[in-house]
Amino acid sequence: MRALVALFVLFVIATLVATRAEPLAPTVTVEGIPDTVGRGTPMRVTAKDRGSGLAHVEVRLVPDGSDALVLARQDFPRTGWFGSGVYETTLAPTLGANVPVPEGHAKLEVWATDHSWLSALRRSPRYTRDVNVDVTPPALGVLSKRHAPRVGGSELAVLKVGPDAADSGVQVGDVFFPATAGFFKDPTLRAVLFAVPENAPAAVPVAVATDGAGNRAEVSLDVRVEPRKFAEKTLPINDAFLSRKVPELLAANGLQDSGNLVDGYLRINRDLRQATEARIRELCRDSAPTTLWTESFLRMPAAPLSGFADRRTYTYNGQVIDHQTHLGYDLASLKNMPVPAANAGRVVFAGPLGIYGNAVILDHGVGLFSLYGHLSEIGVTQGAEVKRGDPIGKTGDTGLAAGDHLHFSMMIHGVHVDPVEWWDHHWIGDHVLARLAEYPKAPPPPPPTPVATPAAAPTGAAAPTGAAAPAAAAPLGESSP
Ligand SMILES: [Zn+2]
Repeated sequence: MRALVALFVLFVIATLVATRAEPLAPTVTVEGIPDTVGRGTPMRVTAKDRGSGLAHVEVRLVPDGSDALVLARQDFPRTGWFGSGVYETTLAPTLGANVPVPEGHAKLEVWATDHSWLSALRRSPRYTRDVNVDVTPPALGVLSKRHAPRVGGSELAVLKVGPDAADSGVQVGDVFFPATAGFFKDPTLRAVLFAVPENAPAAVPVAVATDGAGNRAEVSLDVRVEPRKFAEKTLPINDAFLSRKVPELLAANGLQDSGNLVDGYLRINRDLRQATEARIRELCRDSAPTTLWTESFLRMPAAPLSGFADRRTYTYNGQVIDHQTHLGYDLASLKNMPVPAANAGRVVFAGPLGIYGNAVILDHGVGLFSLYGHLSEIGVTQGAEVKRGDPIGKTGDTGLAAGDHLHFSMMIHGVHVDPVEWWDHHWIGDHVLARLAEYPKAPPPPPPTPVATPAAAPTGAAAPTGAAAPAAAAPLGESSP
């Protein structure tokens, strides 16, 4: 009998230990915390527990000689015999904008407890790290004045930033236009092209600079945005067009074909259009730090079929089936007309590009790009330098085009802007070139290292450094079928 009682007591103790006093302490992993922590530093702290579940997780900053600041905390009360039932949580603490905190050395601590009785014995943080606290945003000033962009149009600003600015530019609504360093002789000056996107007419542009710790300075621009109304157009879609384009475009872009032409068309006009624009923004991320051009942009001599930011209503059998905005100019003349490069630049893309079919994108520097869509033939390769007027391909109707024409877009870092301004010599002079000319320009980069002449080659082993080797490029002439 006594043995049985002893066995029972042992069982109770074992159960209690296994459930209430389990020895598995919470673990903590921390991501993305740099040596210097500022107001905008993104931090991710994940706490896990394999036993009784998490009870309390807290991220603290302990500046030298000051009280601990709690940056984030979460509590998970016991919900049953076995604990909280929460085995993992992620906190994203930040140093809030208004939290007073001394700068300098501090300790970042993560405390985590579980529902085990043993938790009471664990009196130290599960993670500790030495950091430097810097909550001073970089210096930022706007030197240019009287910015007057139209909705859908472009503008240029000149910023002056502190040496610790890691990033600067102009924020317009959701869109950030990065500034270009290295354009001016004074290394603290930045040139930034920005736009008021056609779909954000109420956005107010502001200058922004952030440092490595994420501290952000904002300065308002002297800016007056000119409102604008865009044309409304109706585009009837017919069966001949649908059966000619839809199956081909769905297949070419890896989209499912349900067999229903209108359904397939909507997938192209909505989803593929959106995916194409996202791809364009990726392709237009990096730009040369200087203007690769000096004159206005060329407009292919042809009649405009559609203008910038036309609001299009699509109808099928008299029914409205879709609405989209046309982000460029459609220019049509004869079939397979040679397409000139609108200005000097570098080919950043040449190939099939979603709704734009066979397309070319040129970088003109300082964030400015041009796009040529629906080409029947592409005559340049990625990485090539082109001059103003150089033929880059021939017009066609590849992609989502009903007939032979050129789709022409001007873009700032992939955001479409009205090309009319860039075709206008006077507009460019007033809004861009005059502002850039106010400060001394950085000396041109040293010419590409001269290719060693055979006589001067030091040793036979010298690899052909191929100074200006025209980048590993795509195969020539991606001609359309
Ligand atoms: Zn177009």
